[in-house]
Amino acid sequence: MKKIKKNNKNLTIREIQDWEKSFLEKKGVFEDKDKEKAIKTAICKLAEETGEVAEAILEDKWDKIQEEVTDVIVFACKVANIAEKFYGAEDLSDAIRKKIKICDEREWNPDNKKLNKTKNERA
Ligand SMILES: [Mg+2]
Repeated sequence: MKKIKKNNKNLTIREIQDWEKSFLEKKGVFEDKDKEKAIKTAICKLAEETGEVAEAILEDKWDKIQEEVTDVIVFACKVANIAEKFYGAEDLSDAIRKKIKICDEREWNPDNKKLNKTKNERA
């Protein structure tokens, strides 16, 4: 099983994705048999975990927040892993870099109190 170093303060998305894959192997789960079932299960779990974050907030259980946010991140990485492996999706880290670049390029519009889309987004 892929180990993540205990003192690693700069955990990467790739490390989380790789850990998620190795965790599946540890559990003996082989998604190759039914990729459609795998993605549907993953997105349902992601939605469930997102609900658990909301529940923790609404119930003022701040001691649970980071644990529940972690579940969301892991299941989001699982969705990305399946998308990359079976559906030709781009590398998640590359997609995040692109998204951050786009967000950084947007300018604040005080008139409508929104970030304007970049020229590339409008094209
Ligand atoms: Mg949870």
